[in-house]
Amino acid sequence: MNARVSTQQYRRLALLVAVLLPAAGAAQTTIALDPNRYSLQQDVQLGQEAAAEARRQLPMLDDERVDDYVEAVGENLVAAVPAAYRHAGFRYSFDVVNQKEINAFALPGGPMFLNRGMIEAARTEAQMASVMAHEIAHVALRHGTAQATKGQKFQIGALAGQILGAIVGGAAGSVIAQGSQFGLGAYFLKYGREYERQADLLGAQIMARAGYDPREMANMFRIIEREGGRSGPEWLSSHPNPSNRYDAITREAAVLRVNGNADTGRFASMRARLRGMPPAYTAEQVARGQARRRTVGTAGRPSTRVEPPASQFRVHTPARFLRVAVPANWEARDAGDAVTYAPDGAFVEADGETGFTHGVQIGVAAGASGDLRRDTEQLLRALARANPDLRAAGAPRRDTVGGRAGLATLLTNVSTVTGEREYVSLSTTQLGDGNLLYIVGVAPAREARAYDSTFRRVSASLQIADR
Ligand SMILES: [Zn+2]
Repeated sequence: MNARVSTQQYRRLALLVAVLLPAAGAAQTTIALDPNRYSLQQDVQLGQEAAAEARRQLPMLDDERVDDYVEAVGENLVAAVPAAYRHAGFRYSFDVVNQKEINAFALPGGPMFLNRGMIEAARTEAQMASVMAHEIAHVALRHGTAQATKGQKFQIGALAGQILGAIVGGAAGSVIAQGSQFGLGAYFLKYGREYERQADLLGAQIMARAGYDPREMANMFRIIEREGGRSGPEWLSSHPNPSNRYDAITREAAVLRVNGNADTGRFASMRARLRGMPPAYTAEQVARGQARRRTVGTAGRPSTRVEPPASQFRVHTPARFLRVAVPANWEARDAGDAVTYAPDGAFVEADGETGFTHGVQIGVAAGASGDLRRDTEQLLRALARANPDLRAAGAPRRDTVGGRAGLATLLTNVSTVTGEREYVSLSTTQLGDGNLLYIVGVAPAREARAYDSTFRRVSASLQIADR
């Protein structure tokens, strides 16, 4: 017989007990909400926008069994948030990121991201739940927007950008590479010691109400500190230790009554499942674009393997006024206003879209303003519409294209066809008729170095005779 009670039943049980108990433990700490100039709806909106970006940029584990499990634990905790800290419209969600570092973060209004490394570091379900309860407490106490309220400017647009930047660390993720995802002074993801103290205490209360021993939170923080590893515990850089953290949690725990036992009994098997998977990505790999989206547990298309660019080049005439040399093993495909040169296997089609994974495209775009910089920006916007994950990896810099003044822009993208992270280099210059000539080089990010020199050589070979 299976005597285990389902999470659903536990939640009801926990709620019932919570209602029936007189505000148990007279000495339980009451936490006052800080002033907040944001509406609840703004919390939700900011969090949802940032979460969508996080899901695009971070390697999500996408393992149904693990996700279901973490969600069940999370929902049980959310159901145990005391009434004073429940907010209309907040929608808690729980995603597991296939990343090695011991880290987790939650966004205003409820979206939470838990690194696989955090789950693997925990020894018990209660320890994993303690990090989640702490994060839920930050959300319920509205620490992100409360912190922003203290800032000088009340500007929701700027804030949204700040969260996104903090999560992905800019277009190329260079901040992630340095191991501090939240280093950009983000209001929402890095808290002061007072907010940490509050999240510890409310988190402990949530744990107890949900049916977990809150002392496991202190134990988990010790593990985090010990196993932070060479790069230091990431989680602690965004959740700095308040003074006497362990003592404060233990003292709070002593006056809390644990409502039953919420342990699902599934933690050990879930951790074993995670440990049996291919290694998780490191923050550095994520930043370098080596972490493809949809890695484990989904039927992603295999990455494209093509022949490397031949060292011998062959001259082509993509238009009457243009000459360009490309690797001899690349073939041409003419699409009217653009010609693409790519090796065999690099032309891909999916869902009615045609693209290329490796190679160069040369084309002419309408120049509207007569100004190279502005027309280039317009072209970038058009490209971004067709490639929603396209991001500039730096400001455009001056370049020489076909012997005339041009601009070179480096970009990153996630291919809509293969799901792979791409390196994109764009060069533009003006034609005599005011239109824009562009050369765009594309390669998977992991092969960027090898292809960059080829792109330079192609660009340098360009001859324009339109005047
Ligand atoms: Zn915290």
